[in-house]
Amino acid sequence: MRRDKRFQPHTPDSYRAPARVQGGTGCQECGAVYENGRWTWNASAEHTAQLVCPACRRIREHAPGGELWLESGAYLVAHHQEVVSLLQHESADEQRLHALERLMSIEDQPEGIRVTTTGPHTLRRLSEALVRAHHGHLSIEYRDGEGVLRARWSRK
Ligand SMILES: [Zn+2]
Repeated sequence: MRRDKRFQPHTPDSYRAPARVQGGTGCQECGAVYENGRWTWNASAEHTAQLVCPACRRIREHAPGGELWLESGAYLVAHHQEVVSLLQHESADEQRLHALERLMSIEDQPEGIRVTTTGPHTLRRLSEALVRAHHGHLSIEYRDGEGVLRARWSRK
């Protein structure tokens, strides 16, 4: 899901497009390495320069790229641990594949569970895994102004 950058010059998508990052740069916080135009977990790559990668910046600045709300209800209460484990497992898999795709937090709140991610891929993956395993109703929306992918899930 790639959107045309010309239409969103000031959105948080700038987190994904590091300007002037040179190959061989590593993130000083997580160890991800910027190579051939993307961030990877390639531990063997030599890196000479250090900065903070876009995912770590989002985490540091509390600026999620994706937000998923699981609406509170009897089903969620009964399956809370199971649902949280699924989200953790799926996001760990996604993070192994894509260095910038991370789970930021899973928070229990009065209205339900709030899940935040650094990128849209994790959000989609979590949403789809949730529906596959627990059914229920899912809606995904993209809000242009904020550049954050948002989803809501509920099951009575
Ligand atoms: Zn990092």
